Amino acid sequence: MVQPYKHEPFTNFKIEENNKAFQAALNDVANDLGKKYPLIINGEKVFTDEVITSVNPANKEEVIGTVSKANKDLAEQAMQAADKTFQTWRKTKAEVRANILFRAAAIVRRRKHYFSALLVKEAGKPWNEADADTAEAIDFMEYYARQMLKLKDGMPVESRPIEHNAFNYIPLGVGVIISPWNFPFAIMAGMTTAALVSGNTVLLKPASTTPVIAAKFIEVLEEAGMPAGVVNFIPGSGAEVGDYLVDHPRTRFISFTGSRDVGIRIYERAAKVHEGQIWLKRVIAEMGGKDTIVVDKEADLELAAQSIVASAFGFSGQKCSACSRAVIVEDVYDQVLNRAIELTKEKTIGEPTDLNNFMGPVIDQAAFDKVMSYVEIGKEEGKIVTGGEGDNSKGFFIQPTIIADVDENARVMKEEIFGPVVAFCKAKDFNHAIEIANNTDYGLTGAVISNNIEHIEQAREDFHVGNLYFNRGCTGAIVGYQPFGGFNMSGTDSKAGGPDYLVLHLQGKTTSETL
Ligand code: NAD
Repeated sequence: MVQPYKHEPFTNFKIEENNKAFQAALNDVANDLGKKYPLIINGEKVFTDEVITSVNPANKEEVIGTVSKANKDLAEQAMQAADKTFQTWRKTKAEVRANILFRAAAIVRRRKHYFSALLVKEAGKPWNEADADTAEAIDFMEYYARQMLKLKDGMPVESRPIEHNAFNYIPLGVGVIISPWNFPFAIMAGMTTAALVSGNTVLLKPASTTPVIAAKFIEVLEEAGMPAGVVNFIPGSGAEVGDYLVDHPRTRFISFTGSRDVGIRIYERAAKVHEGQIWLKRVIAEMGGKDTIVVDKEADLELAAQSIVASAFGFSGQKCSACSRAVIVEDVYDQVLNRAIELTKEKTIGEPTDLNNFMGPVIDQAAFDKVMSYVEIGKEEGKIVTGGEGDNSKGFFIQPTIIADVDENARVMKEEIFGPVVAFCKAKDFNHAIEIANNTDYGLTGAVISNNIEHIEQAREDFHVGNLYFNRGCTGAIVGYQPFGGFNMSGTDSKAGGPDYLVLHLQGKTTSETL
């Protein structure tokens, strides 16, 4: 009997024993630095001459590992392996597939701090953020395994006395999984295991900045009993391998999480039917956000300031759910802004291996340049009231930055910055605040801090985001509790970690037998 699902608890690092265990895990990761990782095609290790070098964003000199790099030929081999394996995998019992996820979750749980410590090094995550990423990876596996067991017998339909009708879900085929670097474990593992537990075979192309954690996860799946050819691991250039596989006539679906521009490109390319293709490709795309915390005049203002600062600067603002706009009713604007400035000034930034640092670096030079260019735009569009400086001499560090007194239509209010930068904007009243909150192309997360029940109900109806939170921050959705995904340009309205997510990887088949 499978236990009911419960999310993985977060680690309390104030407890000495946990602290020591994590330090030890950081040492273990340090001992593994610089290793070489292969592609996995049909269960075979393939080492290539050309490699992707993964570096520590807090220390550019430190190489986390080198990962083999697929090209079109290798991607084609992986496609053929996945296509062939689908013929057996689709008939493998749902229980067997689910058991692989349960075992993989157990393996990760046993070595939890190792994976989190690797995320500290490879993604620059502070301990608590890395711990949450690993916990979420475990949650996805536990949750999707149970969801598959619920779906395995299909859905009930009616039958008349002379017939037996059934409605079952069958898998789609080969899925191309393209994952981002910001939740390099959770999102990569979640997308991959949702596809495979549903009976599909997979070509996994992780983000090029964080391929080592993905290589380690493939080892876990193999240890958990995943047969050869089910998940093929092909890191490589988005433009080369990504486009090739998106266009491929044997690709049945694409599951993508990443930026809006790449998501749109994939969606457009996938719509074209290529020679030999006998289906319309399905695309699951989870894209960017421009997420807002609205503060009402009747509100706990301390909670408001705390929520804005935590949601804006956790993991250096590099979450699709991060608060990048604070929209505050004018009566309380100064109070919330001043308190947020105070709280921000208390935050320490630096080497994320040090537990005392609240914030580490941003992911790479391109991210550093992009965020700093928005700081410059912010200087024109508002007032930098704290932060605004960057230092990329050793790693890619940017101070947590607040841009105050910004117009609702400013660029820093509309465009995804994806760094530790939040814009503050004044609203005339609550109606105006909701209007501003809805004035972006995105619709991912949002929060309302208010003690006014009518305003909360108004926001529930009118604040158009996939994940809306009341009296808390706008980050930190938990698998199975707050299914995650946004509207409009935030993606295809899918909900990762939700009860209907697996169905996106399946198709319904009706059978009717005359008795
Ligand atoms: P990105 O779009 O740059 O890259 C995502 C993935 O796409 C990477 O694996 C990349 O190599 C690949 N890629 C690049 N070009 C490609 C192409 N032409 N064809 C196929 N694949 C290609 O995004 P990123 O910088 O890794 O991630 C940050 C973005 O992801 C932000 O915009 C963030 O909001 C978004 N995000 C969204 C969610 C969500 O659930 N909605 C979650 C996490 C991140």
